[in-house]
Amino acid sequence: MLGVVVVGVGRAGSVRIRDLQSPQHHPSPLKLIGFVSRRELGNINETKQISLQDALSSTEVDVAYICSENVGHETSIRQFLDAGKHVLVEYPMTLSLASAQELWKKAEEKGKILHEEHIELLTEEFAFVKNEVRGKKLLEGTLHFTGSPLDRERFGFLAFSGIARLSWLVSLFGELAFVSAAMEEQKENQYQKMTVNLETVDKRPLTWIEERASGLKYERRINFLFESGRLESIPPRTQGQKNIFLRDQDIFVRKLLGQMSTEDLAKEKKHSLHCLGIADEIQKYCQHLQ
Ligand code: NAD
Repeated sequence: MLGVVVVGVGRAGSVRIRDLQSPQHHPSPLKLIGFVSRRELGNINETKQISLQDALSSTEVDVAYICSENVGHETSIRQFLDAGKHVLVEYPMTLSLASAQELWKKAEEKGKILHEEHIELLTEEFAFVKNEVRGKKLLEGTLHFTGSPLDRERFGFLAFSGIARLSWLVSLFGELAFVSAAMEEQKENQYQKMTVNLETVDKRPLTWIEERASGLKYERRINFLFESGRLESIPPRTQGQKNIFLRDQDIFVRKLLGQMSTEDLAKEKKHSLHCLGIADEIQKYCQHLQ
């Protein structure tokens, strides 16, 4: 059995704790040992709160789930890798390409698994779009995301907090090149809009828009023009969101048990670093504009 500690008990951390506490649908090598929180939460069901120091030093803990705000990921990953633990981190892994590269190197040197959650690739919506796109030749496309404001101080620049959208585009159309970006911000009403121009390897234009403001609904709008026609909508889910965090955990477990091929591991790492690299470029470009 591998002992797990969950760091950060917000929305994602709570789901992770629930999944680890629930009877697993198939035998799992994971056992929840405790959780770390900045707040005094006491116990969650039978699971006890432990200090960060105890989580790092306990020989019972083999694995850390980093479910805290994005700004803390880098430090937490480094601490747990240095303590000889495997790490699962909610996306985005870090808020810069350089730190992600350094942490991947550290994980490899220590012989530990570093897994970045990508639940956006496990949704029914993504499966639909992926299937629609298969075999088609893209001429141009747009992915426009809207949602409520996200605190930049805690979740980072929009290109990082919105990495799930970039991950969709890369998974659908292959590696992308950054062309240019624009930012619109109205601090008084927490309005933020980032428009990014990207290009596929065939030099086809893709636009990624990330727009956040009070009252904006969580929504993804797509408009992909192919030689064979246009894809403009994603049908509503037919079932509730299938347990995507649990499916992500299954992928992590396969890695821990050495059941994922070296090629697949390398592919995932490349995907993660490619997305973080583009996010990094966008951020630098936008900072330069200011
Ligand atoms: P959240 O604000 O609900 O939770 C973050 C929690 O982390 C808070 O409870 C905060 O107190 C805690 N925290 C922050 N710093 C900490 C520290 N140093 N030690 C212990 N606890 C700390 O946010 P969330 O939506 O759960 O997002 C958490 C992470 O999960 C983010 O990286 C996000 O990108 C990722 N994620 C979330 C979802 C989702 O559906 N909510 C989906 C995919 C990925």
